Amino acid sequence: MPIPLVEYLLHANSEDKPVLKSQWADVVASDCVTCTCGHNQAVIMTYRCLYCGIWFCSECAGKHFGAEYQAYVERSRSELFDKLMKEKGLR
Ligand SMILES: [Zn+2]
Ligand SMILES: [Zn+2]
Repeated sequence: MPIPLVEYLLHANSEDKPVLKSQWADVVASDCVTCTCGHNQAVIMTYRCLYCGIWFCSECAGKHFGAEYQAYVERSRSELFDKLMKEKGLR
């Protein structure tokens, strides 16, 4: 379960509040979410900021969290991929 909307709304600024509300409606209705850039995709493909609660596509997450975080995501993703391939005996 995602962290409930209300937790984030309490602390959100007036700019983020409508984004949080419409994203939450998206997630509940369709398991998809629209990033602040307008890109709509499956929630599992997006990154949610633990601080403000907004979901981002990978591109915008990079901007939001900073390049360092993005590098970390790419690294852990390729490590995970390697691990899966090894487990399946494909590498
Ligand atoms: Zn985006
Ligand atoms: Zn944030």
